Amino acid sequence: MSTILLAGGAGYIGSHTAVELLESGYDVVIADNFSNSCPESVKRVEQITGKSVKLYEVDIKDAAKLENVFSENSIDAVIHFAGLKAVGESVEKPVLYYRNNIDTTLSLLECMNKYGVKNIIFSSSATVYGEENPVPYTEEMKRGTCTNPYGWTKVMMEQILEDTAKADSSMSVVLLRYFNPIGAHESGMIGEDPQGIPNNLMPYVAQVAVGRRDHLTIFGNDYPTPDGTCRRDYIHVVDLAKGHVKAVEYVMKNKGVEVFNLGTGTPYSVTEIVTAFEKANDIKIKYEYGQRRAGDLPESYANADKALKVLGWKTEKNLEDMCRDLWNWQRNNPQGYNK
Ligand code: NAD
Ligand code: UDP
Repeated sequence: MSTILLAGGAGYIGSHTAVELLESGYDVVIADNFSNSCPESVKRVEQITGKSVKLYEVDIKDAAKLENVFSENSIDAVIHFAGLKAVGESVEKPVLYYRNNIDTTLSLLECMNKYGVKNIIFSSSATVYGEENPVPYTEEMKRGTCTNPYGWTKVMMEQILEDTAKADSSMSVVLLRYFNPIGAHESGMIGEDPQGIPNNLMPYVAQVAVGRRDHLTIFGNDYPTPDGTCRRDYIHVVDLAKGHVKAVEYVMKNKGVEVFNLGTGTPYSVTEIVTAFEKANDIKIKYEYGQRRAGDLPESYANADKALKVLGWKTEKNLEDMCRDLWNWQRNNPQGYNK
């Protein structure tokens, strides 16, 4: 069976993807520096699946150290999750973000080139559609203007990967543009474990529910949307992880570059999300309305037709599943992995 290297695989999306790959019969190697994760997530992946994962603690920017991973394993495809992802922090520390996100990509590509690995799947983001494109986003739209350095790193990395594939016709690159992954594995053993105050909506809601935060501030209720709050395309992280299994099958059979949106195609507002969490879990979430957050777009959601047509993938879980599974994880792990 094929061996897949998950760069940054100890993180939120990587750990869920590891479970789905292992359960589909792939061998999984993870390389991570644990800058935003811990080895415990990988142990839990092994517990859930009853299979073992080869784990390397390595800074992927460091191509010389990363090379061990390639020399010691026969890697068939790489999934590149390794990156810093906090939008606000990227505005304050742009050099850190450009250095980490671009250099991890370059080091991976250098090692792939040296060891003849031709297949890579990249964790891109809906943020690359920028401010100009109308919703719902389709893959053939041009990348737009981002509002922050994090978004620009994704734009730049897409470009780097496209150029690399253009220069080497034996390469296969899949760019996955994620919408808003939320929820957790239904076992409640792995989930999102943000360090410090969560930047994203759902981890914040979950921490209010578990008593770690007093209340949620909803950033703006004067947007041009049905209830005035922003609308996003929330996708269950397990559906997203299953999309990676399909992308692995695809990347190993094809050449060139292909882009896929991974979303549901259905937007929900912040208020709808809070209400859905309350209803699914029978818990009240204290919230108040505050100022808009700089850089937020009123709406972001996918046209998800291409992934269905080409990969045969679509989401299977609904908003209630997302809210229930998130709470199951948070309730069982009130302090995340660091219990
Ligand atoms: P995460 O922070 O949980 O996972 C990223 C992992 O990469 C972490 O385990 C971190 O320790 C590791 N990492 C970072 N820099 C590294 C380095 N230099 N060397 C080795 N390991 C390194 O984030 P996630 O939510 O799982 O996101 C995975 C990818 O998907 C990221 O590239 C992110 O930008 C992208 N993405 C995430 C979202 C989202 O909402 N979660 C949306 C769109 C795109
Ligand atoms: N949001 C909010 N309060 C928070 C965090 C987020 O109202 O504490 C809103 C945010 O303005 C956006 C939506 O929730 O409209 C989703 O935000 P998130 O940061 O999770 O995702 P992104 O902005 O990247 O789509």
